[in-house]
Amino acid sequence: EVISVQELANRMSERSVDVIKCLMKLGIMATANQTIDADTAELVVEELGHTAKRVAESDVEIGLGMDDQDAEETLLPRAPVVAVMGHVDHGKTSLLDALRKTDVVSGEAGGITQHIGAYQVKLASGNVITFLDTPGHEAFTAMRMRGASVTDIVILVVAADDSVMPQTIEAIKHAKAAGVPIIIAINKCDKPAANPDKVRQELLQHEVFVEDMGGDVLSVEVSALNGTGLDKLQDAILLQSEMLELRANPERAAQGTVVESKIETGRGMVATVLVKRGTLRIGDNFVAGSAYGKVRALLDHRGNQVEEAGPSVPVEILGIQGAPVAGDDFAVTENEGKAKEIAEYRLRLEKEKKVTATARGTIEQMFSAIKEGTADELPVVIKADVQGSSEAIVNSLEKLSTDEVAVKVLLSGVGGITESDITLAAASNAMIIAFNTRANKQAREEAQAAGVDIRYYSVIYNVIDDIRAMLSGMLAPTL
Ligand code: GDP
Repeated sequence: EVISVQELANRMSERSVDVIKCLMKLGIMATANQTIDADTAELVVEELGHTAKRVAESDVEIGLGMDDQDAEETLLPRAPVVAVMGHVDHGKTSLLDALRKTDVVSGEAGGITQHIGAYQVKLASGNVITFLDTPGHEAFTAMRMRGASVTDIVILVVAADDSVMPQTIEAIKHAKAAGVPIIIAINKCDKPAANPDKVRQELLQHEVFVEDMGGDVLSVEVSALNGTGLDKLQDAILLQSEMLELRANPERAAQGTVVESKIETGRGMVATVLVKRGTLRIGDNFVAGSAYGKVRALLDHRGNQVEEAGPSVPVEILGIQGAPVAGDDFAVTENEGKAKEIAEYRLRLEKEKKVTATARGTIEQMFSAIKEGTADELPVVIKADVQGSSEAIVNSLEKLSTDEVAVKVLLSGVGGITESDITLAAASNAMIIAFNTRANKQAREEAQAAGVDIRYYSVIYNVIDDIRAMLSGMLAPTL
């Protein structure tokens, strides 16, 4: 029993590109003309919010409704979810620790906090902010690769006695690619050598325009060491989140994202879930990626048992069968049978994963999406041997853009292709242009696994020709 992606899309009146995206979430790379089996089709149908009716087998209903919208009147404000990124040693960990200490609730209780992957700070004003406490862009991008978008705001830490560094730039690219607003925290302002103005200047070169420089990116001078400026940073976060109008429906079955998981002696599999909407309660049946279970206990970041967790609240859950990973989606189901069914189905998919996740899948998909006129951007990552070539390629490709299709350069840089490049490309479904440069072994493996297309060139005209052909939808995939 098979159906083509196109046919499935037609029957649901959905765009085939949306079906393809949905399949990607399930780890399957397929083009519009390829066929998928009935089980997969059913998952897609349900994921897209439709009801699957099978003629033959018993009516298996798998509906997670992850994408359905809550009615306007059910939406209430929720706390912003903040990730901290920046160059090594610029003070990410110190800042997260310092912010954690400003929590008035933990303060009262004596302040022993547990690392569960995220924590909340309640301010004296009563406002609450949720921080992901795994700093760095690896965690951020790894989650995005699994289709999760948990971060509302990125805090970019830059040391005032240092400069904008490679990882600062990478973090900017990642945040921009994800469409997440940035707040600049200029750290180590206690140091005699601190020069915040220089940092703001340098950020300009990377198209981060802070307020003082006529832009709209908020920037705050802080010292994680002695705590100065933290209140201003929190104000900036609240201001930014007001602009984002973050809201969620707390009155529904909980859905969210796994932000961390571990096996602990005595407690078994433990996962931290960040609730996106709805309220999670003890006794709820759930599916988390290919794991499932019934919530036996909920613990907050202070190690306290809690009865429930609403939107933007991170909680540790006990009672999991299987092994969820960071970035997995989490959803409460009507009953245990359904949770188990979905989890087992996904597990089977994972095992079977005859991963057509070859480079071909990605590029063909991009290609057919452009052909159908559904894609407006061709995202690319450019790596070259020297700065001059990299810039020349960027300039030439930008000139190729038309009203309908544009080349979107997520990153252009110098040097070999690294795992980090692959992660970025995979998260944005981009191809990589390698000009007189190679990918290292890990990067090649990662590319293979993630289905990222790396194209090698040594003549700039060839790059331009290929991209032009792709844009005009005339280049047949050559892989
Ligand atoms: P990360 O690698 O970005 O997580 O950076 P860390 O938080 O580990 O900090 C790196 C170093 O900078 C440590 O030795 C910190 O003590 C120091 N540091 C962090 N924040 C400040 C600050 O505000 N002022 C000063 N003087 N040192 C800081």
